[in-house]
Amino acid sequence: MAKKRILTGDRPTGQLHLGHYVGSLKNRVRLQDQYDQYILIADVQALTDNFDNPQKVNKNLKELVYDYLSVGIDPQKTTIFVQSLIPQIAELTVFYLNLVTLERVLRNPTVKTEIKDKGFDKNLPAGFAMYPVSQAADITCVNADLVPVGEDQLPMIEQTREIVRKFNSLYGEVFVEPEALLGDVPRLPGTDGNSKMSKSLGNAIYLSDDRDTVSKKVMGMYTDPNRLHPTDPGNPEGNPVFIYHEVFNEDKSEVEDFKKRYREGKVGDVEVKKRLAEVLNKMLDPIRERRANVSSHEVDTILHQGTEKARQTASEVMSRVRSAMKIDYKI
Ligand code: ATP
Ligand code: MG
Repeated sequence: MAKKRILTGDRPTGQLHLGHYVGSLKNRVRLQDQYDQYILIADVQALTDNFDNPQKVNKNLKELVYDYLSVGIDPQKTTIFVQSLIPQIAELTVFYLNLVTLERVLRNPTVKTEIKDKGFDKNLPAGFAMYPVSQAADITCVNADLVPVGEDQLPMIEQTREIVRKFNSLYGEVFVEPEALLGDVPRLPGTDGNSKMSKSLGNAIYLSDDRDTVSKKVMGMYTDPNRLHPTDPGNPEGNPVFIYHEVFNEDKSEVEDFKKRYREGKVGDVEVKKRLAEVLNKMLDPIRERRANVSSHEVDTILHQGTEKARQTASEVMSRVRSAMKIDYKI
Protein backbone atom coordinates (compact mmCIF):
# COMPACT_ATOMS: atom_id res chain seq x y z
CA MET A 1 0.00 0.00 0.00
CA ALA A 2 1.32 3.43 -0.92
CA LYS A 3 1.88 5.76 2.01
CA LYS A 4 -0.68 8.50 2.53
CA ARG A 5 0.49 12.02 1.72
CA ILE A 6 1.02 15.11 3.80
CA LEU A 7 1.23 18.59 2.36
CA THR A 8 2.04 21.51 4.58
CA GLY A 9 4.08 24.66 4.30
CA ASP A 10 5.20 28.09 5.39
CA ARG A 11 5.43 31.54 3.91
CA PRO A 12 9.00 32.81 3.41
CA THR A 13 8.19 36.05 5.22
CA GLY A 14 10.55 35.51 8.16
CA GLN A 15 12.16 32.82 10.24
CA LEU A 16 10.21 30.13 12.03
CA HIS A 17 9.19 30.68 15.63
CA LEU A 18 7.90 28.82 18.68
CA GLY A 19 4.33 29.02 17.35
CA HIS A 20 5.33 27.11 14.23
CA TYR A 21 7.15 24.58 16.37
CA VAL A 22 4.19 23.62 18.55
CA GLY A 23 1.55 24.36 15.91
CA SER A 24 2.94 22.34 13.05
CA LEU A 25 6.66 21.47 12.95
CA LYS A 26 6.51 18.89 15.76
CA ASN A 27 3.76 17.03 13.91
CA ARG A 28 5.78 17.09 10.71
CA VAL A 29 8.81 15.57 12.44
CA ARG A 30 6.64 12.95 14.14
CA LEU A 31 4.78 11.93 10.98
CA GLN A 32 7.55 11.95 8.37
CA ASP A 33 8.16 8.19 8.74
CA GLN A 34 4.55 7.21 8.36
CA TYR A 35 3.60 9.56 5.54
CA ASP A 36 4.97 10.63 2.18
CA GLN A 37 5.47 14.20 3.33
CA TYR A 38 5.76 17.35 1.20
CA ILE A 39 6.65 20.77 2.61
CA LEU A 40 5.93 23.71 0.36
CA ILE A 41 7.70 27.04 0.71
CA ALA A 42 4.88 29.40 -0.22
CA ASP A 43 6.70 32.17 -2.07
CA VAL A 44 3.77 32.89 -4.41
CA GLN A 45 1.47 33.27 -1.43
CA ALA A 46 4.04 35.45 0.39
CA LEU A 47 4.09 37.76 -2.62
CA THR A 48 0.32 38.34 -2.42
CA ASP A 49 0.97 40.74 0.46
CA ASN A 50 4.67 41.42 -0.17
CA PHE A 51 4.56 42.05 -3.94
CA ASP A 52 6.28 45.40 -3.32
CA ASN A 53 9.07 43.74 -1.33
CA PRO A 54 10.25 40.68 -3.28
CA GLN A 55 13.66 40.96 -1.63
CA LYS A 56 12.09 39.95 1.68
CA VAL A 57 10.64 36.78 0.19
CA ASN A 58 13.91 35.94 -1.57
CA LYS A 59 15.97 36.47 1.58
CA ASN A 60 13.78 34.20 3.70
CA LEU A 61 13.32 31.31 1.29
CA LYS A 62 16.48 29.35 2.11
CA GLU A 63 16.32 30.32 5.79
CA LEU A 64 13.24 28.13 6.08
CA VAL A 65 15.24 25.09 5.02
CA TYR A 66 17.75 25.75 7.82
CA ASP A 67 14.80 25.94 10.21
CA TYR A 68 13.34 22.64 8.98
CA LEU A 69 16.60 20.75 9.30
CA SER A 70 17.29 22.28 12.71
CA VAL A 71 14.10 20.81 14.20
CA GLY A 72 14.68 17.37 12.68
CA ILE A 73 12.97 17.35 9.31
CA ASP A 74 14.83 14.71 7.30
CA PRO A 75 15.09 15.47 3.57
CA GLN A 76 15.36 11.73 2.89
CA LYS A 77 11.82 11.36 4.21
CA THR A 78 10.32 14.77 3.46
CA THR A 79 10.22 16.53 0.10
CA ILE A 80 10.89 20.27 0.51
CA PHE A 81 9.99 22.37 -2.54
CA VAL A 82 9.38 25.89 -3.85
CA GLN A 83 5.83 26.87 -4.79
CA SER A 84 6.65 29.20 -7.71
CA LEU A 85 8.68 26.47 -9.42
CA ILE A 86 5.64 24.18 -9.74
CA PRO A 87 3.63 25.54 -12.70
CA GLN A 88 0.89 22.96 -12.07
CA ILE A 89 -0.12 24.89 -8.93
CA ALA A 90 -0.80 27.99 -11.02
CA GLU A 91 -2.74 25.89 -13.55
CA LEU A 92 -4.90 24.29 -10.88
CA THR A 93 -5.57 27.69 -9.30
CA VAL A 94 -7.02 28.99 -12.55
CA PHE A 95 -9.39 26.03 -12.82
CA TYR A 96 -10.41 26.24 -9.15
CA LEU A 97 -11.28 29.93 -9.49
CA ASN A 98 -14.32 28.78 -11.48
CA LEU A 99 -15.47 26.61 -8.57
CA VAL A 100 -15.75 29.31 -5.89
CA THR A 101 -17.78 32.46 -5.68
CA LEU A 102 -16.20 35.82 -4.86
CA GLU A 103 -18.61 36.10 -1.98
CA ARG A 104 -17.46 32.80 -0.50
CA VAL A 105 -13.77 33.74 -0.66
CA LEU A 106 -14.37 37.08 1.03
CA ARG A 107 -16.36 35.37 3.77
CA ASN A 108 -13.33 33.29 4.79
CA PRO A 109 -12.73 34.38 8.43
CA THR A 110 -8.91 34.18 8.22
CA VAL A 111 -8.86 36.29 5.06
CA LYS A 112 -11.16 38.81 6.75
CA THR A 113 -8.87 39.12 9.79
CA GLU A 114 -5.75 39.39 7.64
CA ILE A 115 -7.32 42.07 5.41
CA LYS A 116 -7.91 44.10 8.57
CA ASP A 117 -4.44 43.43 10.04
CA LYS A 118 -2.71 44.40 6.81
CA GLY A 119 -4.82 47.52 6.25
CA PHE A 120 -6.17 46.23 2.92
CA ASP A 121 -9.74 47.41 3.66
CA LYS A 122 -9.63 49.97 0.85
CA ASN A 123 -7.10 48.55 -1.62
CA LEU A 124 -7.49 44.81 -1.56
CA PRO A 125 -5.19 43.11 -4.09
CA ALA A 126 -7.25 40.50 -5.97
CA GLY A 127 -4.36 38.03 -5.60
CA PHE A 128 -4.48 38.33 -1.83
CA ALA A 129 -8.23 37.79 -1.70
CA MET A 130 -7.84 34.64 -3.80
CA TYR A 131 -4.97 33.08 -1.88
CA PRO A 132 -7.23 30.44 -0.25
CA VAL A 133 -7.94 29.16 -3.76
CA SER A 134 -4.26 28.99 -4.54
CA GLN A 135 -3.78 27.19 -1.22
CA ALA A 136 -6.32 24.58 -2.33
CA ALA A 137 -4.12 24.08 -5.40
CA ASP A 138 -1.04 23.69 -3.16
CA ILE A 139 -2.69 20.98 -1.11
CA THR A 140 -4.19 19.09 -4.03
CA CYS A 141 -1.22 19.31 -6.41
CA VAL A 142 0.10 16.25 -4.57
CA ASN A 143 -3.42 14.99 -3.72
CA ALA A 144 -2.64 15.25 0.00
CA ASP A 145 -4.60 13.35 2.66
CA LEU A 146 -3.43 15.31 5.68
CA VAL A 147 -2.42 18.92 6.35
CA PRO A 148 -0.69 19.73 9.67
CA VAL A 149 -1.49 23.38 10.45
CA GLY A 150 -2.14 25.95 13.16
CA GLU A 151 -5.68 26.94 14.04
CA ASP A 152 -5.66 30.07 11.85
CA GLN A 153 -5.48 27.79 8.82
CA LEU A 154 -8.63 25.73 9.50
CA PRO A 155 -10.84 27.92 7.29
CA MET A 156 -8.36 27.34 4.44
CA ILE A 157 -8.62 23.59 4.75
CA GLU A 158 -12.42 23.86 4.89
CA GLN A 159 -12.35 25.91 1.69
CA THR A 160 -10.05 23.33 0.06
CA ARG A 161 -12.44 20.54 1.01
CA GLU A 162 -15.32 22.44 -0.58
CA ILE A 163 -13.35 22.92 -3.79
CA VAL A 164 -12.41 19.23 -3.84
CA ARG A 165 -16.05 18.18 -3.36
CA LYS A 166 -17.16 20.49 -6.14
CA PHE A 167 -14.39 19.31 -8.47
CA ASN A 168 -15.11 15.63 -7.80
CA SER A 169 -18.85 16.04 -8.25
CA LEU A 170 -18.46 17.93 -11.54
CA TYR A 171 -15.61 16.03 -13.15
CA GLY A 172 -15.31 12.68 -11.31
CA GLU A 173 -13.40 11.45 -8.26
CA VAL A 174 -9.85 12.71 -8.66
CA PHE A 175 -9.00 14.13 -5.25
CA VAL A 176 -9.20 12.97 -1.65
CA GLU A 177 -10.80 15.42 0.78
CA PRO A 178 -7.82 16.49 2.90
CA GLU A 179 -8.04 16.60 6.70
CA ALA A 180 -6.43 19.26 8.88
CA LEU A 181 -4.24 18.16 11.77
CA LEU A 182 -3.77 20.64 14.62
CA GLY A 183 -0.63 20.65 16.78
CA ASP A 184 -0.39 20.33 20.59
CA VAL A 185 -0.97 24.07 20.74
CA PRO A 186 -3.29 25.21 17.95
CA ARG A 187 -2.44 28.91 18.43
CA LEU A 188 0.49 30.10 20.52
CA PRO A 189 0.07 33.74 21.62
CA GLY A 190 2.75 36.36 20.95
CA THR A 191 5.19 37.80 23.48
CA ASP A 192 3.08 40.99 23.40
CA GLY A 193 -0.09 39.19 24.49
CA ASN A 194 -1.60 39.21 20.97
CA SER A 195 -3.57 36.03 20.41
CA LYS A 196 -1.16 34.78 17.72
CA MET A 197 2.61 34.70 17.57
CA SER A 198 3.38 35.73 14.01
CA LYS A 199 6.40 36.63 11.94
CA SER A 200 4.57 39.65 10.58
CA LEU A 201 3.54 41.06 13.98
CA GLY A 202 7.02 41.38 15.56
CA ASN A 203 5.97 39.35 18.62
CA ALA A 204 7.85 36.14 17.98
CA ILE A 205 10.65 34.13 19.58
CA TYR A 206 12.51 32.55 16.68
CA LEU A 207 14.01 29.07 16.66
CA SER A 208 17.23 30.72 15.48
CA ASP A 209 17.37 33.40 18.22
CA ASP A 210 20.52 33.18 20.33
CA ARG A 211 20.40 32.73 24.11
CA ASP A 212 20.65 36.44 24.91
CA THR A 213 17.95 37.41 22.45
CA VAL A 214 15.59 34.82 23.92
CA SER A 215 16.30 36.07 27.46
CA LYS A 216 15.73 39.68 26.45
CA LYS A 217 12.49 38.87 24.66
CA VAL A 218 11.20 36.88 27.64
CA MET A 219 12.14 39.59 30.16
CA GLY A 220 10.20 42.10 28.02
CA MET A 221 7.09 39.93 27.72
CA TYR A 222 3.60 41.19 28.37
CA THR A 223 2.13 39.91 31.65
CA ASP A 224 -0.87 40.80 33.81
CA PRO A 225 -1.26 44.57 33.14
CA ASN A 226 -3.08 45.13 36.44
CA ARG A 227 -0.20 43.94 38.53
CA LEU A 228 2.17 46.78 39.51
CA HIS A 229 4.16 45.17 42.36
CA PRO A 230 5.32 41.59 42.98
CA THR A 231 3.15 41.58 46.11
CA ASP A 232 -0.05 42.35 44.15
CA PRO A 233 -2.17 39.26 43.46
CA GLY A 234 -1.76 38.45 39.74
CA ASN A 235 -3.71 36.56 37.12
CA PRO A 236 -1.93 33.69 35.32
CA GLU A 237 -4.97 33.01 33.07
CA GLY A 238 -4.44 34.26 29.51
CA ASN A 239 -1.02 35.52 30.59
CA PRO A 240 1.50 34.57 27.88
CA VAL A 241 4.35 33.99 30.36
CA PHE A 242 2.28 31.30 32.08
CA ILE A 243 0.95 29.93 28.80
CA TYR A 244 4.56 29.42 27.64
CA HIS A 245 5.43 27.79 30.97
CA GLU A 246 2.52 25.40 30.53
CA VAL A 247 3.56 24.55 26.99
CA PHE A 248 7.33 24.33 27.32
CA ASN A 249 8.20 23.68 30.98
CA GLU A 250 8.28 19.95 31.63
CA ASP A 251 8.35 20.47 35.42
CA LYS A 252 4.58 20.65 35.91
CA SER A 253 4.75 21.00 39.69
CA GLU A 254 7.03 24.02 39.34
CA VAL A 255 4.49 25.61 36.97
CA GLU A 256 1.64 24.95 39.42
CA ASP A 257 3.72 26.45 42.24
CA PHE A 258 4.50 29.58 40.18
CA LYS A 259 0.80 30.01 39.37
CA LYS A 260 -0.24 29.62 43.00
CA ARG A 261 2.38 32.10 44.24
CA TYR A 262 1.52 34.52 41.43
CA ARG A 263 -2.16 34.52 42.42
CA GLU A 264 -1.15 35.15 46.05
CA GLY A 265 1.32 37.93 45.21
CA LYS A 266 4.25 35.83 46.43
CA VAL A 267 6.43 35.74 43.34
CA GLY A 268 7.78 38.49 41.10
CA ASP A 269 7.49 38.52 37.30
CA VAL A 270 11.29 38.52 37.12
CA GLU A 271 11.64 35.12 38.79
CA VAL A 272 8.95 33.52 36.62
CA LYS A 273 10.41 35.03 33.46
CA LYS A 274 14.02 34.11 34.26
CA ARG A 275 13.01 30.50 34.69
CA LEU A 276 11.02 30.60 31.43
CA ALA A 277 14.07 31.92 29.56
CA GLU A 278 16.11 29.00 30.94
CA VAL A 279 13.47 26.48 29.89
CA LEU A 280 13.26 27.89 26.36
CA ASN A 281 17.01 28.13 25.94
CA LYS A 282 17.47 24.54 27.07
CA MET A 283 14.90 23.39 24.53
CA LEU A 284 16.42 25.52 21.75
CA ASP A 285 20.08 24.54 22.35
CA PRO A 286 19.99 21.27 20.35
CA ILE A 287 18.00 23.04 17.60
CA ARG A 288 20.71 25.74 17.41
CA GLU A 289 23.39 23.09 17.31
CA ARG A 290 21.80 21.22 14.40
CA ARG A 291 21.29 24.50 12.56
CA ALA A 292 24.98 25.39 12.86
CA ASN A 293 25.87 22.14 11.08
CA VAL A 294 23.77 22.78 7.96
CA SER A 295 25.72 23.95 4.89
CA SER A 296 24.39 26.23 2.17
CA HIS A 297 25.32 23.60 -0.43
CA GLU A 298 23.12 21.09 1.41
CA VAL A 299 20.22 23.56 1.39
CA ASP A 300 20.55 24.15 -2.38
CA THR A 301 20.65 20.42 -3.11
CA ILE A 302 17.60 19.74 -0.93
CA LEU A 303 15.58 22.45 -2.69
CA HIS A 304 16.69 21.34 -6.13
CA GLN A 305 15.89 17.67 -5.59
CA GLY A 306 12.70 18.34 -3.63
CA THR A 307 11.34 20.66 -6.28
CA GLU A 308 12.10 18.11 -9.03
CA LYS A 309 10.24 15.41 -7.12
CA ALA A 310 7.25 17.64 -6.33
CA ARG A 311 7.03 18.66 -9.99
CA GLN A 312 6.92 15.00 -10.98
CA THR A 313 4.11 14.24 -8.50
CA ALA A 314 2.18 17.37 -9.48
CA SER A 315 2.44 16.50 -13.15
CA GLU A 316 0.96 13.04 -12.48
CA VAL A 317 -1.93 14.67 -10.60
CA MET A 318 -2.36 17.24 -13.37
CA SER A 319 -2.70 14.51 -16.02
CA ARG A 320 -5.60 13.07 -14.06
CA VAL A 321 -7.13 16.55 -13.74
CA ARG A 322 -6.81 17.24 -17.47
CA SER A 323 -8.37 13.92 -18.33
CA ALA A 324 -11.24 14.44 -15.86
CA MET A 325 -11.84 17.97 -17.21
CA LYS A 326 -11.73 16.79 -20.83
CA ILE A 327 -8.82 19.05 -21.69
CA ASP A 328 -6.38 16.23 -22.39
CA TYR A 329 -6.48 16.95 -26.13
CA LYS A 330 -4.56 14.49 -28.23
CA ILE A 331 -2.85 17.15 -30.33
P1 ATP B 1 2.79 35.49 8.48
O1 ATP B 1 2.62 36.50 9.58
O2 ATP B 1 3.70 35.93 7.37
O3 ATP B 1 1.48 34.95 7.96
P2 ATP B 1 3.02 33.27 10.27
O4 ATP B 1 3.83 33.46 11.50
O5 ATP B 1 1.52 33.29 10.36
O6 ATP B 1 3.56 34.29 9.19
P3 ATP B 1 2.84 31.16 8.32
O7 ATP B 1 3.99 30.87 7.41
O8 ATP B 1 1.70 31.94 7.79
O9 ATP B 1 3.45 31.90 9.62
O10 ATP B 1 2.28 29.82 8.96
C1 ATP B 1 2.88 28.55 8.78
C2 ATP B 1 2.17 27.51 9.61
O11 ATP B 1 2.40 27.73 11.01
C3 ATP B 1 0.64 27.53 9.47
O12 ATP B 1 0.19 26.19 9.52
C4 ATP B 1 0.16 28.28 10.69
O13 ATP B 1 -1.15 27.91 11.06
C5 ATP B 1 1.18 27.83 11.73
N1 ATP B 1 1.32 28.88 12.76
C6 ATP B 1 1.76 30.13 12.56
N2 ATP B 1 1.74 30.84 13.71
C7 ATP B 1 1.28 29.99 14.66
C8 ATP B 1 1.03 30.13 16.08
N3 ATP B 1 1.25 31.25 16.71
N4 ATP B 1 0.57 29.05 16.77
C9 ATP B 1 0.34 27.87 16.12
N5 ATP B 1 0.56 27.68 14.79
C10 ATP B 1 1.02 28.72 14.07
MG1 MG C 1 0.28 33.27 8.51
